[in-house]
Amino acid sequence: MQPNIKTKYLLDSSNQFYQETLGYKPEQTSLQQIPEFKWNEFATQRGLNPNSSGIYLPRNQTAIIRDENPLSLFHEYFGHGIYSEQSLSGRKLVDLERRLLEEEKREFSTGKFTLEDVQRFRQQNQTFQELDGFRKQNLLQYETFAIWTEYLLSGENGLRDLFGRKYDSLTGQEKEVVNSAINFSSQYGNLATFYVSSLARKTTAERVKRLLEDVYGSKLQDVKFALLYGSKKEFSDIDVFMVGKGIPNEAHSDWLDVKYKSHKEFNLGLKNFDVRILTPLMNGELIFGDRNYFEELKKQILSQPITEEAIKHNLKWSSRMQRLKEENTEDDFLKNKFDGYSKTYLANALALREGLRLFTKEDLLSYSQQEKPIELKGGTEKNAIRKYDGNVSTASF
Ligand SMILES: [Zn+2]
Repeated sequence: MQPNIKTKYLLDSSNQFYQETLGYKPEQTSLQQIPEFKWNEFATQRGLNPNSSGIYLPRNQTAIIRDENPLSLFHEYFGHGIYSEQSLSGRKLVDLERRLLEEEKREFSTGKFTLEDVQRFRQQNQTFQELDGFRKQNLLQYETFAIWTEYLLSGENGLRDLFGRKYDSLTGQEKEVVNSAINFSSQYGNLATFYVSSLARKTTAERVKRLLEDVYGSKLQDVKFALLYGSKKEFSDIDVFMVGKGIPNEAHSDWLDVKYKSHKEFNLGLKNFDVRILTPLMNGELIFGDRNYFEELKKQILSQPITEEAIKHNLKWSSRMQRLKEENTEDDFLKNKFDGYSKTYLANALALREGLRLFTKEDLLSYSQQEKPIELKGGTEKNAIRKYDGNVSTASF
C-alpha cells in the first residue's frame, strides 16, 4: 500500500528535518500502513493489543502503523526506525533478531509447527535469551527515545495537541522519563538530545557550530575561536577546542568533549609548544571565530624559535601526567588519557630538542619509538625518560 497524501507529506517534511539536523534520515526502515478496517484482524493475529496504533519489527526493520496515525508514524518509523539504523544498540538488536530468525527457520524448515513449539524452542535457545536480556536492558531508552520523537515531530509538524492527548494517557512513571528527555531537549537542543541518546554523529564544523550554539547560547560571545579536531568518528565524542572567556567549565561527556583555554593559558601554551594546545591548533578545523587570526597562529608555530623553556615545559607536563596516571590506576579512562599525554609530552620534548615540530599524536609516538641516543640534563628529564616505556598509547585525545 502506497502511503496516502497526508502520510506522504509528514514523511517528506520529517525526512527533510532529519537530513538537515543529523545529516541522515531513515534509509533501511520500511513503512507499512494497515487500513483502519483491517487493523483489528491484523493486531489479533500478531498478538497485539487492538487498541495499539502501531508496531516496529526489528527483524525486517519495518514500521507498521494503523491507518494514517501521525504519532504512530513518528514513534515507529522515525523513533524506532532511526534508532535501529543509527545507534549501536539498535543495530545490535536488529542483528540478534535476524540471527534468531535464521535459527528458527532452520529449526522449523520441515513440517508444521505451533506457536507453542516456537515458544518452547525459544526457551532453550541462546540467541533468544541474549536478545531477551538485551531488549529488557534497553527498553526504557528505546521507548523514551521513540516518545520523545513523537514530541519532537508533532512540534515540527504543528500537531502538538495530538501529542498532548497522548501524553495525558501516559502513566506517572512514563511521564517522568519523557519529561526528562523533553527538558533536556529544551535546554540543550534537538541535536544534543539525539547525541545523548547515542545516535551516530555526522561531525562537520557547521553541525558542531549549531550544537555549540544550542548548548552554550550567549556564553559563546566571548569565545575568540573554536576548533573541531579529533577522530570525528560517528560513535566517538566530538572534540572541541575553544579559546576565550565566558565558558566556566570544560565539559566532558561520551558525546562531547570541550577543552577550553583562557587567553593567558593559550598564549603560554603556544609559546611553549604545549601538546594540548598544538594538537588542536595545527590539526583542527575552524568552527567559528577569526580565520585570519587562526591562520596567523599556525604560521607563528611554524616560525617561532624553539626555546629551552619550551622543551622543559613539555618535560614537566610529561612528569605531571605520569603522576596523574599513577594516581588514577582504578579509572581506565583517566589512566589511559594521562598515560597518552605523558608519552606525547615526552616525545614532543625530545623532538623539539632536535629542532622538530611534530603536531599529531601519531607522529609524536612514532618519533619517540625510533632508537636514538638522547642526552638530557636535569632530574625531571631523567626521571621522565626512565619511566617512559615507548608503548603506543590507545588513549584518545
Ligand atoms: Zn515503541
